[in-house]
Amino acid sequence: MTHYPFTPDETIVVSGIQSSGKLHLGNYFGAIRQHIALHQNHPSYYFIVNYHAMTSVRDPIALKAHTLDAALTYLALGFDPSKGDLFVQSDVPLLNELTWIFFCLTPVSQLEKATSYKDKVAQGLSSNCGLFNYPILQAADILIYGGTLVPVGADQKQHIEIARDTAQRFNHVWSPDQPMFPLPDPYIVKNVAIVPGIDGRKMSKSYDNTIGIFDEGKELDRRIKRIVTDSTPLEAPKDPDTDNVFALIRLFASEEQQSEIREAYQCGGYGYGHAKKVLTGLITEYFGDARERRRELLKNPDYIQDVLRQGGINARQRAEACMDKVRELTGLMTTYQF
Ligand code: ADP
Repeated sequence: MTHYPFTPDETIVVSGIQSSGKLHLGNYFGAIRQHIALHQNHPSYYFIVNYHAMTSVRDPIALKAHTLDAALTYLALGFDPSKGDLFVQSDVPLLNELTWIFFCLTPVSQLEKATSYKDKVAQGLSSNCGLFNYPILQAADILIYGGTLVPVGADQKQHIEIARDTAQRFNHVWSPDQPMFPLPDPYIVKNVAIVPGIDGRKMSKSYDNTIGIFDEGKELDRRIKRIVTDSTPLEAPKDPDTDNVFALIRLFASEEQQSEIREAYQCGGYGYGHAKKVLTGLITEYFGDARERRRELLKNPDYIQDVLRQGGINARQRAEACMDKVRELTGLMTTYQF
């Protein structure tokens, strides 16, 4: 049971992706693949989170370019705008109002415990207030559309818990009898876990350790060559379960291919160079059709902008309905509504 504007018990899929760099294999297997699958059957709101990206990107040209490239990537990978909404986060500036309200409900200690923040600071990212408050903007992102299901990578589990806590706090304070916000659940694919980057850390745009979804040719070779492996000699047996190359192969290979490669690792005489060649072939083939669609879409940039514009209109409408109710419940007065 929830307040207008959200329909009780409806599954609303909501998720975002940062426009802070080229989208990569971690984004695809952790999130985008599930986004594409879920939007076929449920109302879905997918946004390119350019406010969040500002925690690390200061170059306006790069921010815009990454935003459009993310939209292009979704469309090339099969996002169908007749089935869901794809839009730019900053097309819904109302989000910032909801974020402020959520700030006022959130204990600082909860954000201090956020592991993603601590990891990013430990890896050398600047600890600006945007980075610290990142999960609260994310909570607003999810709740403003009444999101109930959030397909994300395993690295985001804690942030979805923060969004749930935030919804509960709001409901407790301002709508105890008839909760305003549904509590969102994460949707995390178990066998993907966290995709490692070429340096063995979590693959992330923030760490410059990615393999881009559409990397090909020399760029793909260069990235794959740089994947860190141990120094076991070619003839010695190797453990596939501790190797970064195998961790990536597993994402693409069939069960049968996986057990063949696993056996080759364990028998010895199979080097990491061999495994890297296999990985290059698998990536090239897996994204072949999408790469072709991307080339076609690139010929029609107006189409990409139209998709984003319409997605933004739909998202704003839903967000406005939510914020009208939020203002009424919280007593935030706007005289233009008198
Ligand atoms: P990044 O860390 O590259 O900036 P984002 O914060 O934009 O990634 O994350 C977008 C989505 O991709 C999120 O759902 C996140 O959980 C998922 N994701 C990002 N990196 C990985 C990874 N290495 N493995 C699995 N999922 C990931």
